[in-house]
Amino acid sequence: MRKRKTVGVPVQVYNLGSPAGTQMNFERDELWSRMDAEMGKKAVSLPVFLVNPNQMDMLYPREYRRALDPERIRPLLQEEVEREARERERNPERRREPQEGEQDLFDRLKRYEEEGWLKYSRAVAVGLYLRMGRHNQQFRNQVLQQGDPNVRTAEAENAFLSHQAPAIFLCCERIVDRASRLGIPHHLVMDKVYYHELGHAIMDTLPDGAPNPYLESWGRTVEESLANAIAYRCFEGKQALWVQRLIQDQPAEYLGYAAAGQLLAKHMFLVNVKFLRDWYREWRREYGWYWWHRVEYALDMLERGEWHPEVARTLTEFFRHLPLPLTPVRWNGRIDSQNITEWKTFKRKAALPKSWEAEAWKDFAMHLLIEGVS
Ligand SMILES: [Zn+2]
Repeated sequence: MRKRKTVGVPVQVYNLGSPAGTQMNFERDELWSRMDAEMGKKAVSLPVFLVNPNQMDMLYPREYRRALDPERIRPLLQEEVEREARERERNPERRREPQEGEQDLFDRLKRYEEEGWLKYSRAVAVGLYLRMGRHNQQFRNQVLQQGDPNVRTAEAENAFLSHQAPAIFLCCERIVDRASRLGIPHHLVMDKVYYHELGHAIMDTLPDGAPNPYLESWGRTVEESLANAIAYRCFEGKQALWVQRLIQDQPAEYLGYAAAGQLLAKHMFLVNVKFLRDWYREWRREYGWYWWHRVEYALDMLERGEWHPEVARTLTEFFRHLPLPLTPVRWNGRIDSQNITEWKTFKRKAALPKSWEAEAWKDFAMHLLIEGVS
């Protein structure tokens, strides 16, 4: 059976040997009408390769094969919340310096990553956004050999062998399997997975050779939660609810998609404090005592380098209540969009993992994890 390349839309879709791929219809209006301009721009520039489970498992990078099981890490996160609260009560004025040799939360989570992967590999390796340049012809031929020749076309083979830029891979057997287990149309699962991978493409600002925060569990948490936020916001009503049900079965790193829309990550950047304080001093007489205390406290904490969800929550809430012309932060209504922009900026600058900015993103990731698994 010869499966012809999709026509009718300016997007390249190739089947590399996935029998279930023949069930995927890329000509549905619904698939494309949910996209905004930024996502559409990626869709028309990135080829989509449909692959079977064996091919996906070959392609999935070894260094990405980690996952955190929400059930296993929930007690640890709870402990962390309690410990922080105790510290703050004991010493509300000073930032606690980590003790010599003390492990931070993400170091302690490392030991759960392998068993988490064993449990979640089939739920995670459904879609993949991959820069193709590093794969040689021999490896690519091996991937092709794993494909079902009845659905693989010469055109698809050539596209796969010659492509040097990023691409998206969708494992159609796993998509169909997920859908049938939940009793929902497979296209709903396909669309969610595709949008999620396009989300990674949108956020792919890392310069070549720069240290990749994705290899750290905090970086993976920010990236996967934001990719899910990008996918989730494409849907409405009942479909959105089914997407939330799909996300529920993913590892802990993926569950912060809703929390990513609650706090502005930019409030953790110290550079903003002076500006925020000057601005606030000018306007604070307009606000009652309730805000006066809370905002002053939050700015003090921020100035000492003490970023934590409570501080960001206060500021986010405060700025959200201001009439539009007064707000000191660029405000386009969507907190998750602003967090995505900040994350892209952080990766573009190739910040080193030890910098204070990375520390602030770690705090943000902790917020995503705690809210996500609770
Ligand atoms: Zn992802």
